[in-house]
Amino acid sequence: MEEKITLWHNKTTEETFSALLSQPYGLTPQEASQRLAQNGANKLPTSRGRTAFQRFLSQFHNVLIHVLLVVMVITALLNHWVDAGVIAGVVIINAIIGFIQEGKAENALNAIQAMLAPTALVLRGSHQVMIKAEELVVGDVVILQPGDRVPADLRLFRSKGLQVAEAVLTGESMTIDKRTAPQPKECELADRICMAYSGTMVTHGQGSGVVVATGLNTELGKISSLVSRVKPATTPLLKQIAQFSRWLTVAILAVAVATFAFGLLVRDYPVTDMFMAAISLAVAAIPEGLPAIMTITLAIGVERMAKRNAIIRRLPAVETLGAVTVICTDKTGTLTRNEMTVRNIVTADNSFELSGTGYDPHGVATVNQQAIYPEDYPLLTKAVQAAVLCNDATLSHSDEQWKIQGDPMEGALLVAGMKLGLDTDTENKQFPRTDLIPFESEHRFMATLHHSHQGEAFIVLKGAPEQVLDICDHQLSAQTEQTKALDRSYWHQQIETMANQGMRVLAIAYRPTEYNQLELTFDDVCDDLIMLGLLGLIDPPREEAIQAVKACNTAGIRVKMMTGDHALTAKAIAQQVGLMNPQDTLTGQQIDSLSDDELSIRAKDVDIYARVSPEHKMRLVNTLQKHQQIVAMTGDGVNDAPALKRSDIGTAMGINGTASAKEAAEMVLTDDNFASITAAIEEGRAVYDNLKKAILFILPTNGGEALIILSTVMLGFKQLPLTPIQILWVNMITAVTLALSLAFEPKEKSLMQRTPRSPNTPILNTHLIWRVLFVSVILMLGTLGMFVWEMDQGEDIAKARTIAVNTLVMFEVFYLFNARYILSSVFCRQGLIGNVYVLIAIAVLLVFQACFTYLPVMQTLFGTSGLELEVWLRIIAVASSVLFLVELEKHYLRKTARNR
Ligand code: ADP
Ligand code: MG
Repeated sequence: MEEKITLWHNKTTEETFSALLSQPYGLTPQEASQRLAQNGANKLPTSRGRTAFQRFLSQFHNVLIHVLLVVMVITALLNHWVDAGVIAGVVIINAIIGFIQEGKAENALNAIQAMLAPTALVLRGSHQVMIKAEELVVGDVVILQPGDRVPADLRLFRSKGLQVAEAVLTGESMTIDKRTAPQPKECELADRICMAYSGTMVTHGQGSGVVVATGLNTELGKISSLVSRVKPATTPLLKQIAQFSRWLTVAILAVAVATFAFGLLVRDYPVTDMFMAAISLAVAAIPEGLPAIMTITLAIGVERMAKRNAIIRRLPAVETLGAVTVICTDKTGTLTRNEMTVRNIVTADNSFELSGTGYDPHGVATVNQQAIYPEDYPLLTKAVQAAVLCNDATLSHSDEQWKIQGDPMEGALLVAGMKLGLDTDTENKQFPRTDLIPFESEHRFMATLHHSHQGEAFIVLKGAPEQVLDICDHQLSAQTEQTKALDRSYWHQQIETMANQGMRVLAIAYRPTEYNQLELTFDDVCDDLIMLGLLGLIDPPREEAIQAVKACNTAGIRVKMMTGDHALTAKAIAQQVGLMNPQDTLTGQQIDSLSDDELSIRAKDVDIYARVSPEHKMRLVNTLQKHQQIVAMTGDGVNDAPALKRSDIGTAMGINGTASAKEAAEMVLTDDNFASITAAIEEGRAVYDNLKKAILFILPTNGGEALIILSTVMLGFKQLPLTPIQILWVNMITAVTLALSLAFEPKEKSLMQRTPRSPNTPILNTHLIWRVLFVSVILMLGTLGMFVWEMDQGEDIAKARTIAVNTLVMFEVFYLFNARYILSSVFCRQGLIGNVYVLIAIAVLLVFQACFTYLPVMQTLFGTSGLELEVWLRIIAVASSVLFLVELEKHYLRKTARNR
């Protein structure tokens, strides 16, 4: 029994079906759910990457923590046991916080990834249904289409030019032609051409197979330990910051050593005092909270984007999104609604209009506004009949609503058929389909072969009109059975008229053939076809897309349309959605005739690219990137993957996209809507803004503390205003409360009025560096001033230090408001109470500070002592100065910026 299981490739399809107790029409839904309950889901155990313990340990793997641990050992050796204990506490708390936050961020990302769970098209009880790949069971019949990832191991029983890339499994990069005939027993995996293995990718053609193994029993499952999918949760900016932190640590250690030497040699401090000073300096200047805050801000950005229908597959995309300068978008379904309706039908003699909206098949045909009987116009019926036959969609009526399954355009053709009294089922029974050439965006047509029961056989073809006219040489005229020579100029003129109104035009042709022809190949449709007519479909633009294009225009983001459709149709839609340049167009053919340099010049100002194929998209991305553009590019087909990978933000369609497009993409849109791209860009800009604000908030704290210690030593004060553990306290407590609240900062209104940021500019420009220094100095002067003044008043050191710590913390509270806007004033309702998290963070912080100041345990641990109300008033008066000073600076900068 075990033996047989691995030899499915050696069995005939009949043997396979009977062994699996299945049949080509699939299992019944009941049988399937029973098998699912019995044998379990079709999935591989997810590799969790690291265990929780490993993740906890990794929190200590950080230069800063190493410095702290060394400091702890030194203080312990100096018999400062309390300090050593507190440092140990801080290190552990820091690790716990980092551990929890990282876990949260990871979970959020995983949850979002789960929304992209793979699906499979199966036949169950003769019906095509889309199910989660997880629910597949042995015996299920799976239909494979280009771009699908094979969801389980299949024994193929139908193959129509099916080709599969098996690199995941065999390492072989060539695609394999699949057949259905049994193969010799002892052939290798790669030669079992009647099998399709889980995890491999369909590149061409169509096929059906019956599931022979799921989950861990698949060939992929057997080697699954090799395919772990842990993606590092890092981004260029995070790396830059990590680098910066390391560099800063080294610099700080150098300064600490220099200070130590200076204090010892020049100022004659005792060695132990200088040790403590150098240690204080080191812990003061290192921004311990920064990396965690950055990760959280990014994770929040990812979540916000998901809420707006954009799912991020790779974390760096969050940053890049904020810098996008060009969006290259599809037309159909992205800018338009993809709710197609056949409006015009043109035959050799007449032009008909069809009334009705949406998929409701109520509507009548008119000629020159006069209602007609379709029976009187056999040509009309014949053309629409062909469109119904050469069709893979289905129309169904449930809950008072008409729904289509499959391509919306094909669905629209079925609706048109019903309006003219043609029923899909009847037509298909009368003229059963024997074979087909599926639609692909490279050849832009689809053809089917039909046999009637009266001994007729014919081929029907529908596709882009240029393609169809190319292979036609006759047309059918009024007396149905008579063909005439093709009147090309007539058709071209009709195509233009319809395309000019923004209609998608489709041509229908046919050809009788020998009754004994049972297979359809490309050779059968390369000439000699007979033109039946043209169909004009409307597909109105999405209202949100129009708004979103407008938003892009103000945000300095250029929108370019890249479509497989006709140039005139594209142009009409471009005008309706309001592209910057709705005049000039370039077609795929024209692009082919341009040299790279010529294309480079044209690509700058042309926004409409029509009749383009995936290779053209690739060339355009390359060209735009040469102009230093950051390109977001949409795609849905198998062949879009290279261009998606190449672009900076590959964007796949969640509904109509293929698995290969989704896997190549950085971002997936759950609603296929252009507006969601703009939303994601807006969120991306907000994330970048908030990262900047967090940095701008955290660095001056460290700067201020470092300056305090430095100047104390330089000026030769007897005692430090802040002890190392007090400094640690301030850093920790402000990071987890105040700084964190900035991650939740709402978007600024001006966000989409700015031009895109250049990706090469460092996050801290000269102005921001100045701001950090400016605030550091304010913090230093205020805190040191309070300390010195209290000491002069004869207060004891514990109290003076408590005052210094509280002054510093209150400075931070006030500065938090400044940090909410980089340049705008915060003296407005929104600026003061616009972010509740800020207010909550401050409240929490004040509770912590009260404990720190008044709780006896804390007093012993941190060497603090209680303060009177009057002292607090003094602290607040001094600390609030930063709010006004920074706002003054902003005001000045805004004024000079305006005058420039
Ligand atoms: P788009 O960028 O508009 O999605 P496509 O590559 O899907 O373009 O389609 C390009 C052209 O191919 C369409 O304008 C239409 O003429 C033709 N076409 C699209 N879908 C089908 C189909 N299912 N059968 C036949 N022809 C089709
Ligand atoms: Mg399309």
